[in-house]
Formats: sequence, C-alpha cells, structure tokens
Amino acid sequence: MSYEVLIVGAGLCGLRAAARLRDLGKSVLVVEKSRGLGGRAATRRWSQRPVDHGAQFFTAKTPEFAAQVEDWEKSGVCHEWARGFHRFADGRLQSPVRDAYPRYACRAGMSSLGRALGEPLGDLVRRESKVTRVAAAGGQWEATLEDGSRLQAKRLLLTPPPAQCSVLLADAAPDAAKELRLLNSLPCIALAACYPRSDLSWQGIQAPEDPVLSWIGHDTSKRPDLHEGVTILMLHGAPRFSETHSHTADEDIATAMLQRASDMTSQDWTAPSEYFVQRWRYALPDPVGASHGPAVYQVPAPLVVAGDWCAGGRIEGAWLSGMAAADALLALPAQA
Ligand SMILES: Cc1cc2nc3c(=O)[nH]c(=O)nc-3n(C[C@H](O)[C@H](O)[C@H](O)COP(=O)(O)OP(=O)(O)OC[C@H]3O[C@@H](n4cnc5c(N)ncnc54)[C@H](O)[C@@H]3O)c2cc1C
Repeated sequence: MSYEVLIVGAGLCGLRAAARLRDLGKSVLVVEKSRGLGGRAATRRWSQRPVDHGAQFFTAKTPEFAAQVEDWEKSGVCHEWARGFHRFADGRLQSPVRDAYPRYACRAGMSSLGRALGEPLGDLVRRESKVTRVAAAGGQWEATLEDGSRLQAKRLLLTPPPAQCSVLLADAAPDAAKELRLLNSLPCIALAACYPRSDLSWQGIQAPEDPVLSWIGHDTSKRPDLHEGVTILMLHGAPRFSETHSHTADEDIATAMLQRASDMTSQDWTAPSEYFVQRWRYALPDPVGASHGPAVYQVPAPLVVAGDWCAGGRIEGAWLSGMAAADALLALPAQA
C-alpha cells in the first residue's frame, strides 16, 4: 500500500502531524513500535494505579498550544496541577515561587495526551509496528517493518529521538544521518516508589543542580481519589547519575536515589512497599531549550525529521514540532 505521507512514531509530534495532514486531505499512516500512544508522555498501570514514568507535567506558553490545552481541560483530559514547585538548591529545600504558568497533569496519566490525539485518527495509526529500515527507490520511500512487511510513501516524517533516526537513515540518507548523530539527548533513570501513607502536602521538588536527583514528584497528588491511602513518589536521576548508572542493578539504583530523596526532604523514604525502575536512554534533548525547526531534506525523496528537540523540548515543543513538520513536509516537491 502506498501513502502520501508515512510517519514513524506516535508520540505527540507524530500524532499532531498526522492530524494536521489528515485535516488537509492527505493520505497518511503513522507506524508506532509500542502498544500505547504518546511516546515519552508515558503512564504505567502499577497495581491498578496510573503512574507517570515519563513526562511529569506540562506548560502552555504559546497561544496555539494554550488553545489545545483549553480543549483538553474542557474535555477532562488534563487539569491544572500546580503553579510552581519546591526547589532544592544551595543545600536546602525552598518553597515554591508561584508564577504565571499553570503546570498541567492528567488524572488518568500523561498517556491520556497520546490517546486524545491518537484515538480520533483510528486506523491511520498502526501500533506494534517497528520500522527497522528505510530506503528510497523510484522517488518514493519504503519502510520495512519488523515482521518483514513494507510500506511505500511519497514523503517520510521521522519522529523518534535523533540518534534513533540517524540509525534508520544510515544507508538511505547518510548525510542526514551524520547531522542527526550530532544532536545529543540526555538519559534519565526514573524510579517509582510506593508507601502506605497519605500525608504529604507538596507536589514536586525540582533540583536542577543536584548530582543524584533532578526531580522528586508526588505522583499521587495528581489523582488523590485514585490512590487512597498510598503515596507514590517519582524520582528522576540527574543526567550524569543516569548515564553512570545505566547498567547498575535496580536495587542499587533504588538505594542511592531513595537515600538522596530522604536527605533532601528530611524524611525517610528508604523502605518503600514496592518500586520499579525505568531507564530512558533518550529522555530530553540536550540542550533542552534549543529551537531550530524540523530538519528538512529533499534527497533522495522528501524527508522531515522532527520532535521535541527542534521546538524547545518538552510536551509543548513536541506538539508544536508536529505542526511545523507537517507544513515543512508539504512544502517539499514530491515526484508525481
Ligand atoms: C523521564 C522523562 C521526564 C520528562 N519530563 C517532562 C516534563 O515534566 N514536562 C515536559 O513537558 N516534558 C517532559 N519530558 C519530555 C517529553 O516527554 C518529550 O519532550 C515529548 O514527549 C517528546 O515527544 P516526541 O513526539 O517528540 O517524541 P517521543 O515521545 O519519543 O515519540 C517518538 C515515538 O517514536 C516511536 N518509535 C521510535 N522508534 C521507532 C521505530 N523504529 N518504529 C516505530 N516507532 C518508533 C517511539 O515508541 C515513540 O512513541 C520528559 C521525558 C522523560 C523521558
């Protein structure tokens, strides 16, 4: 089957781009390697409870994304969770400074965003379909899936993190692959820990300078009615810590991260009733705030590579980059 546009990845970038292309009347297919939608805006069901082990919250600083968030708020997809978080800096915990930006979260978890964007696309999204190779032949792109099947399209949009796009393009577009290899991403080890208590009043602690933890999130506070009687903390390892411990055993990681959380909060978190560890190799673009637009290539056939990394990082950047990628792709001339 041949499409006008093939999109690899059903994260927020790929899904937003697909909706825009469909609205413009283009024949489009999204292929996603996972069962779920939303990519790094990810939620795990843990003992029947949703826990966000990827993105924790989001802001809306542009009018375009603010309009989208308003729709999501009205339909119950997300709600305002906080206006600023505690901060751990200069060796002490500091109270939140409220600012103009609501931090939004989703009661059913951040994967609600992928569902909200992806479900209206119906069978334009094909899940559990990992692309293993892309090639160009006769002015068209051809993607090979893990099961050996092939898909053809006039235009290709790649939305996985740049290092993964680079691998896919190594043969078909070596110059593009080389450029993408230079775009760095930061890893993150995420640790969820559960406790039989429900007396915590804060929502999150940001620790941008700490060598062990960059974030302590009180996940339960996003949906207290679903988590009665328990507290779930979500800890994020600082980038250097996450890199150094990429192969460390889960229990040693948990010991180090929970001890640090206890030191930072002056409360004992070292004995959770259960925990899990998730290792993100490509969590955030480095530097996070860079904004240079999608990477656009004409040869051997129209190709755009996009994602959070080209529009300021984060959820908002991913969504905006999907819009920009769709427009950039259509601006390229395709073979008739
Ligand atoms: C631990 C962590 C914490 C974060 N915290 C925040 C936060 O608090 N606030 C915030 O705004 N942002 C946060 N982020 C960043 C945010 O999650 C991302 O910026 C955003 O989700 C990226 O969306 P994307 O569509 O660009 O990429 P992705 O979500 O990575 O989407 C790419 C998709 O491509 C798929 N894919 C990859 N390879 C293939 C293949 N070969 N074939 C088919 N499919 C493929 C992937 O499965 C994925 O679904 C966090 C991220 C992580 C990991």
